[in-house]
Parts: sequence; C-alpha cells; structure tokens
Amino acid sequence: MTKYKLEYIWLDGYTPVPNLRGKTQIKEYEEFPTLEQLPLWGFDGSSTMQAEGRSSDCVLKPVRIVPDTERKNGAIVLCEVMMPDGETPHPSNKRATILDDEGAWFGFEQEYFFYKNGRPLGFPDSGYPAPQGPYYTGVGYSKVGDVARKIVEEHLDICLAAGLNHEGINAEVAKGQWEFQIFGKGSKKAADEMWIARYLLERLTEKYGIDIEYHCKPLGDTDWNGSGMHANFSTTFLRETGGKEYFEKLMSAFEAAREDHIAVYGPDNHMRLTGKHETQSIHQFSYGVADRGASIRVPHSFVRNDYRGYLEDRRPNSQGDPYQIASQILKTIATVPTA
Ligand code: ADP
Ligand code: MN
Ligand code: MN
Ligand code: MN
Ligand code: MN
Repeated sequence: MTKYKLEYIWLDGYTPVPNLRGKTQIKEYEEFPTLEQLPLWGFDGSSTMQAEGRSSDCVLKPVRIVPDTERKNGAIVLCEVMMPDGETPHPSNKRATILDDEGAWFGFEQEYFFYKNGRPLGFPDSGYPAPQGPYYTGVGYSKVGDVARKIVEEHLDICLAAGLNHEGINAEVAKGQWEFQIFGKGSKKAADEMWIARYLLERLTEKYGIDIEYHCKPLGDTDWNGSGMHANFSTTFLRETGGKEYFEKLMSAFEAAREDHIAVYGPDNHMRLTGKHETQSIHQFSYGVADRGASIRVPHSFVRNDYRGYLEDRRPNSQGDPYQIASQILKTIATVPTA
C-alpha cells in the first residue's frame, strides 16, 4: 500500500471571480486511485463565502484526478462543491449546470501577467519599460527577462505530466505577459483542465515570490495590452455539417445573446473590449474571417471547408470562469435548429 497525498481543489464562492482553494488528505491505495475510489470530503463553507456560520459544512465531490508530480505520491483531485446532502449542487457550482455534449470541443487561450511587488515582472520600479512590440513571441533577456520562461517551462512540464491537454505557450504582447492553451473534447473537459492548470501555475509561482495577475486590464487605460481568454469552440454539427446558412443563423443568435455572453465573459471587460488592441467594442457584435478586431474570428480554414470547423470567440477575458463561458456558448448554440 502507498500513502497518497490527495490535494482536493475547488472553486470558492467569491464573486465575480471565484478563487481556487485546496487542502490535502492522505489515503492509502494499492496503486494510483481512480475517481471511484475517492471519498467525498467536506470543508468549512463559512470561510469561503459558501455558507453561513451556523451550518457551514459543504461537500467536495471529486470529478477528476490527475498525478501531481510536484509532490511525492501526489494527486490533484478537482471537485464540485455540493450541499450537505452530497447530491444537490451548491449555487456556486457552475460546472453542474453545463449542458452535456460529448461532441463539444473547446480550446481556451489563457493570457496572464506575472506580477512581482505589485508590478508586471520586468517593469522598472517606476515608469515603464520600452513600449510593446518586441515582447510578443520574443526571445532574449531584454524581451522576456531571466525567470519568466523558466516558470513557463516548469508549468508546461507539470501540466503534461498531469496528463492535461496543454497545447502550447507563447510570450504575449506586453512585457511580463504570457499565454498557454488548453484543449478538450466534451463540454466540461477543457474547462476542468483550465482550472487545474491555473491552480498549478499559482502554486508553482509561490516559490518565486511571484503572483499571477489574471485581471483583464491590469495596467488600465494605457497602451499596454489587456489579457483575454479566447474561447475556440466547435460542435459535432459545426465540424461535420455546418454550411453558410447555419453559420449565419448561429451568428445572429450570438448577436441576440450578446449581453448574456458578456455577463459571464469576465469582470471589467469594458476596460479591455474597447475596439483597440485587437478587440471589438463590448457594445458591438461582429464576426469576420481572420479578423482579430471582431468579436468572433472565423478561421480561413472554416470558410474554405464550406463553413465547417471551429470558431474563435475573442471576448472572454483572462479572469473568466471557463465553466460559465462554455455553458453560455452551448446555450446559445442550442437555440439554433440544425435541421
Ligand atoms: P491564436 O493565438 O491564433 O488565436 P492559438 O493557437 O493560441 O490561436 O489557439 C487556438 C486554439 O483553438 C487551440 O487551443 C486549439 O486547441 C483550438 N482548436 C483547434 N481546433 C479546434 C476545434 N475543432 N474545436 C475547438 N477548438 C479548437
Ligand atoms: Mn480541521
Ligand atoms: Mn493564442
Ligand atoms: Mn494571445
Ligand atoms: Mn486567439
């Protein structure tokens, strides 16, 4: 028997942005445990904005387990938060409300800043570094500094060792800003893995004295880029049948539901969706082929392939909850008849 360190992680009840929480329990197994072998667990919801003081127990229901190579015999156990009966989803549990769709695929592009002492990593103590231009996909100390890439590489290795569908990394437009991409098949998979990847990134940077700043416009109204989390999506119908007529109906549905989407695409998004810095205004909806100034970018390959494939919603921001984002996209898609 081996004693495993099981890190149960969950989303707390803070709004508009939930925080990740985690605690460890040690359990003995013959080999690396399966989901079915993991017990429910509980926590004090009064400390996480998930319960009142008097009856404060919330239940943790494991939904995914992955190896945690940062700890000897470690595992990360992603959980949904349930009511004390163990069966009713807690109101903060948005994962429980996503339409089940095995054929829905999502690819999220997570942008973020490294922050040290309240400033983006690599910024001088006062004033600004040289303007944007050379940092995006840049190489060299003056572009990316001495520690960012080390962290990014370490995070990548940890994610791959955990079996996450990590698809790539790049240095982003602003100094101290980076991106990674997570892809998943099934309506919850990519969102689950994004939350695990975020957890691993925040935990990793503790030892560097560095924070991850997920706010979508941490440098406010300046010429420094904000951070997004573009949501690339497709359904079985979009990939296999699609067609111009269906696509146009789908885009009309997205236009009609603009406010519902913006409501869950991350806080303070008006600061980022200004119409500048490769964004469309928060008040407009548009789509366009290869158009990075549109709300939805249509890849060249989509049009070439008779309007089949995936689409990129560029509006979700870096602080958005991928469960709520995926959920709203699937809801809007479901309003458009496929016959
Ligand atoms: P860019 O920076 O040019 O917008 P990225 O390469 O960063 O593009 O991200 C593109 C994302 O699209 C990747 O995460 C990828 O997994 C995702 N993607 C590719 N094909 C599909 C598909 N059929 N359905 C959903 N997402 C997809
Ligand atoms: Mn205790
Ligand atoms: Mn990208
Ligand atoms: Mn990007
Ligand atoms: Mn993109």
